[in-house]
Amino acid sequence: MPNQQNSRCKLLVLDIDNTVFDWVTYYVHSYSALLDRVSLAIGVGWDELAEQSKVVFEKNGSIEFPFVIQELPAVNNFFKTDIDKMLDLAVRPARDEFLKMADLHLKPYAGVEIILNQIKQSFPTIPVVALTDAPRYVAMWKLNKLGLLHKFDAVYGLPDPKIPVCDINRRVKVDPDILLKHLQHNRFGFAGKIRNLPDDYEKPGVRGLKTVLMDYDLDESESLRKSVLWIGDNLRKDVGLGNKLGVSTGWAEYGTQIEKKHLDCLAKFSPPMNIHKNVYLSTSSPDAPKPDFVLKEFADILSYL
Ligand SMILES: [Mg+2]
Repeated sequence: MPNQQNSRCKLLVLDIDNTVFDWVTYYVHSYSALLDRVSLAIGVGWDELAEQSKVVFEKNGSIEFPFVIQELPAVNNFFKTDIDKMLDLAVRPARDEFLKMADLHLKPYAGVEIILNQIKQSFPTIPVVALTDAPRYVAMWKLNKLGLLHKFDAVYGLPDPKIPVCDINRRVKVDPDILLKHLQHNRFGFAGKIRNLPDDYEKPGVRGLKTVLMDYDLDESESLRKSVLWIGDNLRKDVGLGNKLGVSTGWAEYGTQIEKKHLDCLAKFSPPMNIHKNVYLSTSSPDAPKPDFVLKEFADILSYL
């Protein structure tokens, strides 16, 4: 590993999902368990709820919209205006099932924590930034649960989720304690910088990463941009945008190794465009953008600092 003095890198920017942890495995298990519990509560089949989820995710701009249960037509038809009952009998127990699965499957890839500690120790002047397409709140919730949040100096995410309200009686359909965390823009004790990027800064658009470069004064010249190390798992979204901006781009190839059964399950509740953008375009094809280097495991980052 090079020492601090001769490091070429001035800034490390990391994608989160499928770069620091296996998002697909985590989310497929957790969301499936959530739907199982909603299905039990209201007597509507899993597949029907999965189909309805696609529409809710699409409408709210994220497959990780945390208030999806409250917006499922089947749930609203069942509970009508009885929000307390909806929260008691469906939302809370289903969320608990989701969290149980998250505890089991929301884990960093091997070595991530150790490597991030090592980077902090050996390269204390290199800021480590997370740049994600997830809503800022959700991204920080995940990083916090992964035990990685405080290893970052900044988090750049998309806007926070919209709070759901009953169409008929205008009651907020969220538990008061959870609502408070959202309204207070909970920082999870994070001391670093947080930036909410506008919705249309979603990757593969370059404006999110461009904002990071500008914030760190590394957008002025070709050589400064090349001193930024950007790592992501998606060739089109992450590598493509890195190439457009002229930063040093590493492809987290290990993040594309996803079990087919998990992809099949994801397809049942994911908006088709989401799968297309996030999964199919992460795999290699002859016309895919070429990274500056390929990471077989997270620890390979150390060779490029
Ligand atoms: Mg990713």
